[in-house]
Amino acid sequence: VASIDPYGGTEVPERVFGIIGYPLRFTLSPIIHNTAFREAGLDWVYAVFRVPPGEAPKAVEAMKVLKLGGLSVTIPHKEAVFSSVDSLTPVAAATRAVNTLSWSEDASLVVGDNTDVAGFVRGLETSLGISAEGRNVVVLGSGGAARAVVWAVAQQGALSVTVAGRTPSRAVALVESITDALQGKPHSPRLRAIGTEGPRLKEACLESDLLINATPVGSDGTSIPVPREAIHGGLYVYDLVYSPMRTPLVEIAASSGAGAAGGLEMLIFQGALQFEQWSGGDAPIDAMRRAALAELATGLQNRSGTADKSGLK
Ligand code: NAP
Repeated sequence: VASIDPYGGTEVPERVFGIIGYPLRFTLSPIIHNTAFREAGLDWVYAVFRVPPGEAPKAVEAMKVLKLGGLSVTIPHKEAVFSSVDSLTPVAAATRAVNTLSWSEDASLVVGDNTDVAGFVRGLETSLGISAEGRNVVVLGSGGAARAVVWAVAQQGALSVTVAGRTPSRAVALVESITDALQGKPHSPRLRAIGTEGPRLKEACLESDLLINATPVGSDGTSIPVPREAIHGGLYVYDLVYSPMRTPLVEIAASSGAGAAGGLEMLIFQGALQFEQWSGGDAPIDAMRRAALAELATGLQNRSGTADKSGLK
């Protein structure tokens, strides 16, 4: 515990939290949460746990055995953890993706939640001043983050949602499960899955007014997840990637006249909601944002080019 003790010495924190993911080479979550704990005067600490693919169920057991206060869940475990918890919030059940583990009120059950959904909604509103209501939306990716985004835009009243997946079968599975979750809800959008090869992705973008990147493409600072010609001035672009803060997709979209933003605000808001769940108090959002920005300006940038950043959360 001494190595993760932010106070130095051998003082043992009252409660330990953390993030599970893999490869998790870089993550802003410890800086965001440890800042929040300090600001709130809590003697808590947030650590990084590298959990290889396939071992998420053991990590949920470890949370019980080690009496951890809670866990954040990132790539590649969001879908695996879904099947390992004792109970799910309605939003985690609908998305079949879990990014937050907490304890039930009587501390007997591990509860899975998904704060990416509300974090995305707040990020879209804060960074671009919009919601997905009445929009034709393209979502790139079919992993855990894409599940949260598709559910969020459907709840907001999007007209149509096209999920474009590198592995079309995963995109189809995502659309099927969100369609199931939307059964009986009024005003559900038209949902469809497409691959990323061929002309359909470009056509879908040209017919849409909101494009959301829920893949890690662009975190290398050079690649873009759609053909350049697919980007037009009538689009809003929200890129979940936040490092670099302005990805090539965001830069190209902005220079084409599109409204465009990266995913930092979503990251801050989903973390703030985790903090509120764990502590029961209001999150010190401004301090969390300042800490993340400072880390992005120094820590992550200093290390850029030294390793693959696809495990960012
Ligand atoms: P994930 O579950 O691993 O899913 C990643 C998705 O991206 C998969 O559908 C994958 O395709 C696709 N993909 C990966 N590399 C690709 C490539 N080179 N070309 C095309 N598609 C590719 O990860 P996730 O949890 O959904 O996270 C996705 C991204 O969102 C990450 O960059 C993560 O850091 C970011 N994120 C940001 C926030 C935030 O708060 N800003 C929150 C959550 C996630 P396959 O299906 O073929 O594997």
